Amino acid sequence: MSRRLVVVGAGPMGLEAALLAGERGFDVMVLEQDRVGESLRRWGGTRFFSPFGMNLSARAVRALGDGAPAEDAMLTGVEMAEQVLEPLAASPALRGRVRTGRRVTAIGRARLTRRDLPGHPLRAERPFRLLVEGPGGEETLEAECVLDASGVYGRPAHVGVGGLPARGEAAVGARLLRHLGTVETAIPDLAGRDLLLVGHGHSAANALAMLEGLRPAPRITWATRSGHRRPCVEIADDPLAERQRVTARANDLAADPPPFLTVERRTGVESLAAPNGRIEVRLANGRGGAFDAVVGLTGYRPDLSFLSELALEISPASEGALRLTRALASVTDCLAVPQLSDRDLESGEPRFALVGSKSYGRLPTFLLRTGLAQIERIVDRLASVA
Ligand SMILES: Cc1cc2nc3c(=O)[nH]c(=O)nc-3n(C[C@H](O)[C@H](O)[C@H](O)COP(=O)(O)OP(=O)(O)OC[C@H]3O[C@@H](n4cnc5c(N)ncnc54)[C@H](O)[C@@H]3O)c2cc1C
Repeated sequence: MSRRLVVVGAGPMGLEAALLAGERGFDVMVLEQDRVGESLRRWGGTRFFSPFGMNLSARAVRALGDGAPAEDAMLTGVEMAEQVLEPLAASPALRGRVRTGRRVTAIGRARLTRRDLPGHPLRAERPFRLLVEGPGGEETLEAECVLDASGVYGRPAHVGVGGLPARGEAAVGARLLRHLGTVETAIPDLAGRDLLLVGHGHSAANALAMLEGLRPAPRITWATRSGHRRPCVEIADDPLAERQRVTARANDLAADPPPFLTVERRTGVESLAAPNGRIEVRLANGRGGAFDAVVGLTGYRPDLSFLSELALEISPASEGALRLTRALASVTDCLAVPQLSDRDLESGEPRFALVGSKSYGRLPTFLLRTGLAQIERIVDRLASVA
């Protein structure tokens, strides 16, 4: 039987999955809509919290040969994309297998809709059929196995209260800064301006670190859904020193705000409008104002639209893989992950799996090191049945 395996996405997890699947004898192809490591490039100069040795498998380090960074290197997203992932995609193990500029727009089973034979082993006998948009137009491909490693970074969550779009967000949304790289690019124009920062995760803490040093200082309003005096979640005795440093600094600023910072807690954006240049924002607590820029770092959501003809088990809470989300229900620290069974990693659709950050959906606890362990299990299981 043919053992074609397609990986969607050439981020760190997609390339790792491809490398391992190649070793296990699959005929592998990676389809990437943009460039290799595109999501990481959008972090700009933001650094990983985890040292390089935690972020790549020994297999991938071997494939890189002498060019691999030191284990304790704290790379930026761009460095990881350019110095690690691009060379990995060009290494002998993956050469010719990574096709960039190819966006997967639909995946289903050949001649079976989502309703046909759900959960039945016969479903696995039909290959997957993928619709792919590329430079030469649309093409269809077939494969016996598919791993979706398309991440979540392409779809920022809405800034409105309760995760809904704020009134006016659809019209003004393109002006919001939704990735750390775009905040970094905008920095020269932000000195002395009025800014609204929405969100209280690690990305918001990183953005605050970038904005804090600007002179003349911008006037920053920080809107957090959290009602805590120290809104960013801190992990006791955090072994990731860089994460600890950035989070603690943001929380110190929130707890005792300097003149440039106003913190609005337990709130979100009610409405946005940009009638004449500035962005007028009304917060749910009735406050707000006119801002020169709005930085919305409220998390990201997986794109499930191209999977709608697969009989997948998706978590109603995380929008990630259902069984995995259940198994991770009590995890608050991404470094403390429980032992998972093979069944926890099944998707409901035989020979298809969500891998990497997409499998976690909106859970904020994904770490590459955990993703690597999950890929090993998933690919080994596929190799035993395919
Ligand atoms: C700012 C930030 C800092 C982080 N820091 C750490 C850290 O220190 N340590 C850690 O372990 N984790 C960290 N993470 C979490 C995680 O490791 C990263 O999000 C990582 O990029 C996830 O890798 P991935 O391969 O799952 O997804 P991505 O890196 O998002 O890769 C997905 C790829 O799929 C492509 N794609 C999307 N849709 C399609 C499609 N339809 N067709 C074809 N291609 C598609 C994208 O263009 C992209 O290249 C951080 C995340 C963020 C956002």
